[in-house]
Amino acid sequence: MLSERVQRIGFSATLKISAKAKAMKAEGIDVIDLSVGEPDFPTPLNIKQAAKQSIDNNFTKYTANAGIPELKRAIIKKFHDDNGLEYDPEQVIVSTGGKQCIYNLCMALLDRGDEAIIPAPFWVSYPEMVKLAQGEPVIVRTKEENEFRLTPAELTAAISPSTKVLFINNPCNPTGTAYTREQLQELVDIALEEGLIIIADEIYEKLVYDGFRFTSIASLSRDAYDKTITINGVSKAYSMTGWRLGYAAGPADMIAAMDKVQSHSTSNACSISQKAAEEALNGPQSEIYRMNAEFQRRRDYMLYKLRSIHGVSCTKPQGAFYLFPNFSAHYHKEFQGTEIRNSYGLAYYLLKQAHVAVVPGEAFGDDHFIRLSYATSMENIQKAMERIIDVTNKLQPSRKAKAVALNNWKTVRKDFVETERNVSVEMRQALVAECEQYLKYDNYYEWNANINGVIIQLRTNHQHLYDYFIENFYPAQIEASLEPHGIIYAVGWIPGREARAYYNSETRTAFLFKSALYGQVRSLAMGIVNDLCERLYDTYSVRGFCFDYDGHGVLIMAPEGTGKSELLAGFLRSAGIKLVTTDVVFVRFAGGIPTAETPERKIYFRTDFVKLYPDFIPLFERSKCENVVTTKDECSCEACRMGGTCDIDMGYGYNFSGSTRSYAMLDPYWIDGPRKHTKRTNLRKIVLLRKDSGSPFEQRLDSEQALRALEDAANARGYNADPFLNQHILVRTSERLELQRRFYLRLFETVPVYHINVGIEKTDKVLAKIMEILTGEKAVVL
Ligand code: PMP
Repeated sequence: MLSERVQRIGFSATLKISAKAKAMKAEGIDVIDLSVGEPDFPTPLNIKQAAKQSIDNNFTKYTANAGIPELKRAIIKKFHDDNGLEYDPEQVIVSTGGKQCIYNLCMALLDRGDEAIIPAPFWVSYPEMVKLAQGEPVIVRTKEENEFRLTPAELTAAISPSTKVLFINNPCNPTGTAYTREQLQELVDIALEEGLIIIADEIYEKLVYDGFRFTSIASLSRDAYDKTITINGVSKAYSMTGWRLGYAAGPADMIAAMDKVQSHSTSNACSISQKAAEEALNGPQSEIYRMNAEFQRRRDYMLYKLRSIHGVSCTKPQGAFYLFPNFSAHYHKEFQGTEIRNSYGLAYYLLKQAHVAVVPGEAFGDDHFIRLSYATSMENIQKAMERIIDVTNKLQPSRKAKAVALNNWKTVRKDFVETERNVSVEMRQALVAECEQYLKYDNYYEWNANINGVIIQLRTNHQHLYDYFIENFYPAQIEASLEPHGIIYAVGWIPGREARAYYNSETRTAFLFKSALYGQVRSLAMGIVNDLCERLYDTYSVRGFCFDYDGHGVLIMAPEGTGKSELLAGFLRSAGIKLVTTDVVFVRFAGGIPTAETPERKIYFRTDFVKLYPDFIPLFERSKCENVVTTKDECSCEACRMGGTCDIDMGYGYNFSGSTRSYAMLDPYWIDGPRKHTKRTNLRKIVLLRKDSGSPFEQRLDSEQALRALEDAANARGYNADPFLNQHILVRTSERLELQRRFYLRLFETVPVYHINVGIEKTDKVLAKIMEILTGEKAVVL
């Protein structure tokens, strides 16, 4: 019933805790509120007087939509005096809070699918506003050890062709982190090069400490000025949160678009508040200095107290009025049998036991932390800190098992990028030269893998791809003088380049640009090996899943939608069955018998398999993972789709079945050692699955029929389908496809092929039938 976009957003955890705090206060409990997002000082007198005067003068009617001229002049003067920026009135808009400026801007800028990069921890509303505008928030985790500053490498890795906007909140809510001019310059250079629009939320500009010199992003250069919309307001600096007044400045066309959105939603900001804001900006500024000195004193005290708590770390922020300590060392501890599992649990514990309200870090995109505001009196802060220290000391190590910290990497791109499979040697040389420019020695990873006897070298600047590549394949012993047989360049960010893969067969060089999705590197590796092996060794890659039963191999070729995962789960449960591969084998004829061999050391396994085979959960927890969902926002598991409670709500940090595109690099020997895995088998039977309601359950095919059935199954997937159902084939010339046809004919002449229709029988029957085919006996499986 509700719109899709509203269903995508949620109330933040901030509200849950503060609602509870309010309810406790109403019961007469002395709750100290450190969750506040506003200064505790009164609005200065001169500002209040200006407001009174505006009421007395009956300045209480609609005003110009984008703000009254005298306030705009005051804002323009502020930008000139404070930031060295020059704006015309049509480059400025006044709105009902800085919040509304950002909302209007998101509506004005974003279309469905446009990506907005948001460094985390972030102010709670950014991702939700992006989603309301039907854009896609791309959350980039910053690191505590970098004081939560977005690094150029992190920004670079997050940019995709769909990126339109970069949010920079300086100083930041909730971390208080501020960026120096040089730090901003580095980020802005990258953003400008990629043509991004920068939303510079500078609402905490005036609240900086220790003599920090604030730099406004738009003032960095003419280009930065042209691409930046600066958000500011009077809420924080003048203690005017309730007056609801903020403003934005930037390119006239964007401001005009924001004006349009505003004209159909709120219209002008409150007339009285506009008059008050004019006074705030034009009047004496001394109150700000007084407030800042007090905030700095409180920050220092609170920081000192927090750092004295065992296991708690906290960076020293340069701005805003929040501290963002890491309390995760106290997770999985318990008090009177109740375990603290996450930031929400901790906030709840502090509220219940210490009567102190804080905001869970989860609301800002990082669950290891909580946010404490020092916008309350020193007396309150002292009391609150004593209570926090006291109840933290009461936490006992949990007797329950510790939650596992998953080794998980999230890629921005979740799908394969398009591959150009036949680039010329000249183009290959140009691409190599280009890649080498970006593979600098301080950010360069190289590894040689031995894949079915072929040496493939990965050259990349993605540590994730390198880590996975090492795990996926056996290492190649390579002499310094020996050349690899094939090379894959995987380069994250090259200005102006599209996300794409390329292959040149003559030099066996593959390229992957702007994607850190390991699956595609793996696929390119398989493709190169196949390209070489079929020419030189008469060995072919065949896509399917493969088992061994007592030395007899069965290869099952399963077009999409034929229930491969169910069958796989069934086979894994069957006694005597050893898994060879879930995806691809290399087949060669040894003494006339086709041998199928897995080229991989570890298996790139879809983690949502746990729905069918929960025994894999602890194995995946030990594996390197890719794109496992860790937040409710991303989760699309069954429980979430039904609006229910999923693993993530239960305090687990992740949900393996929350996405169909998450993977783990699983060591197949972890399943049950050599009892459940073998690297090779002799192929005795081949099964081609189909799904319809008309054809017989089982049909023996001769070699010609089998080849036709395989080609029909591949063609049924449409124009440009992968030949022989094998997406890893890189060279698709008619000559090479003919070579493959001949291989399949020979394979099907040697090994009996069966067509099984999964459309008319349940999985257990299909499984029993395949076992019967394999062993020649009627078998009861399961
Ligand atoms: N940006 C940030 C980072 C904030 O913390 C806030 C207020 N919490 C705002 C914008 C919006 O402030 P207002 O709407 O009161 O101007």
